[in-house]
Amino acid sequence: MKLVFATNNLNKLAEVQKMLPSSIELLSLKDINCFDDIEETAATLEGNAQIKANYIKEKFGYNCFADDTGLEVDALNGDPGVYSARYAGEPTNAENNMQKLLSELENKPNRKAQFRTSICLNLDNNQFLFDGICKGEILTEKHGEKGFGYDPIFQPEGFDKSFAEMSSEEKNKISHRGLAINKLVEFLTSIR
Ligand code: IMP
Repeated sequence: MKLVFATNNLNKLAEVQKMLPSSIELLSLKDINCFDDIEETAATLEGNAQIKANYIKEKFGYNCFADDTGLEVDALNGDPGVYSARYAGEPTNAENNMQKLLSELENKPNRKAQFRTSICLNLDNNQFLFDGICKGEILTEKHGEKGFGYDPIFQPEGFDKSFAEMSSEEKNKISHRGLAINKLVEFLTSIR
């Protein structure tokens, strides 16, 4: 079965392909000649993942899954959440996003936060949702050079280093996206 992962990130694609049985061939958006800017207009992560997966199924006919991730900070009532990518405005900039978050949390004792990924799979026009949560806290300054986005200021629970100080293998084992993808893979493996 051919299955589209609604992403242009080839690293993400290769990583998920490795986890799937060989009967499932993953395709990227580029592989199906989709260069459309699919607008993420929903107010929830689930909603945005659904928009992307349904768009591909409707317009291109392929079964598809899409993901959306947000960083939910307790002291900010769950912000930046679904707006994590453009927290400090557009065009999106990871450094500005981190600086904004650090300044919003200045003098706030509660630094608890979680990354949450929602995946929507559109399989023959049936929708399935999978989620993954990684709990942790926002550090007071940046640590580490690896990863992307908010990684340098996020320390997962049970570790004394940030995501940006972990190898990708180490991070994937405990990350929100890794956990959500595992659930998706388990589901796909069980029905094939
Ligand atoms: P997306 O849904 O994967 O595009 O993620 C939305 C935003 O959340 C990104 O622009 C990043 O700023 C942030 N983000 C998502 N996943 C991670 C992660 O694993 N580490 C750090 N930041 C992330």
